[in-house]
Parts: sequence; C-alpha cells; structure tokens
Amino acid sequence: MDLILRHANLPDGRRDHDIGIAAGRIQAVAPALPAGAAQEIDVRGRLVSPPFVDAHFHLDSALTLGQPRLNRSGTLLEGIALWGELKPELTQAAIRERALAYCDLAVAQGLLAIRSHVDVCDDRLLAVDALLEVKRDVAPYLDLQLVAFPQDGLLRSATAQRNLVRALDRGVDVVGGIPHFERTMADGAESVRILCELAAERGLLVDMHCDESDDPHSRHVESLAAQAHRLGLHGRVTGSHLTSMHSMDNYYVSKLIPLMAESGVAAVANPLINITLQGRHDSYPKRRGMTRVPELLAAGVNVAFGQDCVMDPWYSFGSADLLEVAHMGVHVAQMTSQDAIRQAFDAVTVNAARILHLDGYGLDVGCRADLVVLQAADPFEAIRLKAARLFVLRGGKVIAHSEPRNSVLALAGRPQRIGPEFAPGSIA
Ligand SMILES: [Zn+2]
Repeated sequence: MDLILRHANLPDGRRDHDIGIAAGRIQAVAPALPAGAAQEIDVRGRLVSPPFVDAHFHLDSALTLGQPRLNRSGTLLEGIALWGELKPELTQAAIRERALAYCDLAVAQGLLAIRSHVDVCDDRLLAVDALLEVKRDVAPYLDLQLVAFPQDGLLRSATAQRNLVRALDRGVDVVGGIPHFERTMADGAESVRILCELAAERGLLVDMHCDESDDPHSRHVESLAAQAHRLGLHGRVTGSHLTSMHSMDNYYVSKLIPLMAESGVAAVANPLINITLQGRHDSYPKRRGMTRVPELLAAGVNVAFGQDCVMDPWYSFGSADLLEVAHMGVHVAQMTSQDAIRQAFDAVTVNAARILHLDGYGLDVGCRADLVVLQAADPFEAIRLKAARLFVLRGGKVIAHSEPRNSVLALAGRPQRIGPEFAPGSIA
C-alpha cells in the first residue's frame, strides 16, 4: 500500500475502518489492516467520504458580483438581464482566471467534480472556449463537466441553436436547455424535443434548467420526462431546479413523479438559490419554491443538491461548500430525520456522482482514491457543522489540508481549547 487512512468512519455508518490505497485506487476497506504502507494518516474516528460533487453550477458567471452592478430586485429575471449587460464586456482571460480561482476554492472544500452550465448565446463563444481550456487545466485535480446552456432561449434567441451545436462540436459534454424561458409553453415543449433528439443522436447526456418558476401550470418537466422515455434516454436526463413542482396541484404531481421515475429522469434542486429567487411575486404566505425532494426520493427518483451560483448576478453568497448547500436543503425540505439527513449527504456526494456518470466514484475496492476527511464523526455532524475539510485526496495524494477548527478560550474554570464537535449525550 502507498497510504492507509486509519480509524475512519464511513458515510454508510461503518465505524473504525481502515482504507488502504495503492496506485491511486482503493485497495481495501476493513478494520485493522496490517501495517506496511509507505504512509499512514490516523483520522481518529472522523468521517471519510468520497469527494463532494456539484451537479449544477455556473462557472462562467461565478465571482462576477457587482459587475457591472448589483441585482436590486433579487429576481431571476433581473439576474438574466444583468448577465446580458455583462456579457459583451467579458474576456476569455477574465473568465478563465475567475474559473480557476473558483476551482482552487472547490478543491479546498473537498469538491472535486462540478457540472457547470456554460452560456452559448454569445456568438463569440468566449465562455465556451475559456471553460474548455479550464477543464483541461484542472483535469489532474478536478472533474469539470460542461453543459451547453442556451441562456436566452433555444428558440427565442436567433443564434442559440447554431451556437449550441458549435459548442458541442468544440467538446462541451452535455446538452442543456431552458424551456420556461422560451416565448410560449408550446415553444418550451418544442425546445425540449429538439434538444433531447440532438442528445440522442450524439449519445450525450441532457441537463435542462426546467420549470424554474412559481407557475403551477408549467409543464416542461412532463415534456422532458416524456421525451426521455420516447427516446430511450433513461438515466441520461436531468431536470434542474423544477421549482414549479413546489406550486403544482397535488393530483397532477401524483401522476408526474411516477412518470419521472419511469423515465429515469434525475432532479437537481438548488436550495440556496431556490429559497432566495422563488416566491418573489408572493405576499404572505410566501412559497419556498424548492422542488419536492422527499417525495421524489421516495418514488425512486435520483435527486442531487447543487450550488448553482457563487457571487454572481443571481446570488451574492456561496463558498463552494456543498455541506452548506445540504444544510439549506435539509431546512427548506424539512428533511430532519436521521435517514433524511443521510439522504441530504448523498445528494451532494453519490447521487450527484450518478447524475454526472462519474467513473470510479465511491468507497468500494477499485474506486479512485478521491477522498475527503472531515472534522466530524458522521454525515449528520458534517452537515450540522459544515465541517472543516482536514484532508482532500485525489488519486491517493493529499492535494489540500487544513488544521482542525478550534478556539482558545480565556474563561476561568472552563476548558482552554474547544472544537465544534459535540457528541449527542456526551453531557450526562
Ligand atoms: Zn442554473
């Protein structure tokens, strides 16, 4: 073995296991592996997980906050308008520099795979070229998957369809869409048909921004599932946001969710963004706007939580912390049982990895030794604390590490040093 991680807790509840690594792969996961590795790290009962995976992000707009101005209404539509103002001023070098800075942060946060949409509605395809270059640059340490995203509408923008095909020809991986932004519901359905057929012809995955509205009558998720089924794209299609499902009639949803399950369509909710952008036309009570995550999971639909935006026209916050994303998801969906909290952890790890079709992801023998050691004992504590990433490994090599989070107290009669961990029942 090249490396053994000693005394690890695993996300599935196994405790005090060792993880043996050789040639960049996991070779053994068992209690008390025999000694003999070149290096050992004692993680002392901390959680070791496969890395975080972000199934929905926008790397071309990330870290542009304030350029050329801030979003005053806080709405999706002002965000799109603001991005439209910024686009003519973008340069390939600036996009690249910001994207690389974000990827540095992602690595520090144990986030080693990102599916990023890239806007293809700029005829120069500046962002496409910049992010394809970034994808090659970061490949040794981060899997970047790109989605050709017609931000201004496939049919609504005169050149979007041609540009989307050009982007795919240059190497963008996944077919995107935005049916709720087309001029009519019929145009939205037509865009879904065109894009799914394009993906089927080229053997590509599909991931559309779909029904990102509070409109209870939006029907693009249904179109997406129906096209996935018709074209045999089971397990290859993802609907992102699906916020309209929050507001739909319950009877209609009782038919829609089984259709999604039958079609093998996955869902990505973006809790931080959904809770801030949706419900903006409401007085009180105000809707939350996140899609029906527990109900989708119960029906067997694969659901991930995505970051979506960090410091851009749509969202001023964010820090590449998928535990913060899961934390918000747990709150917005009221996923407070121990089982549901574990599902929320899966939503930013294994579920997202399945959506990206990542190779060799996980903790099984033979998987890539891409791992994160967290300052937490289990997924619950990791989400509760948004735990520090003590070690981040890629292919069995430590590519980031940090000191445990501790504070020094100056209080008479109290401990001098405290960390954030606090086991339930530890005070009698
Ligand atoms: Zn998005």
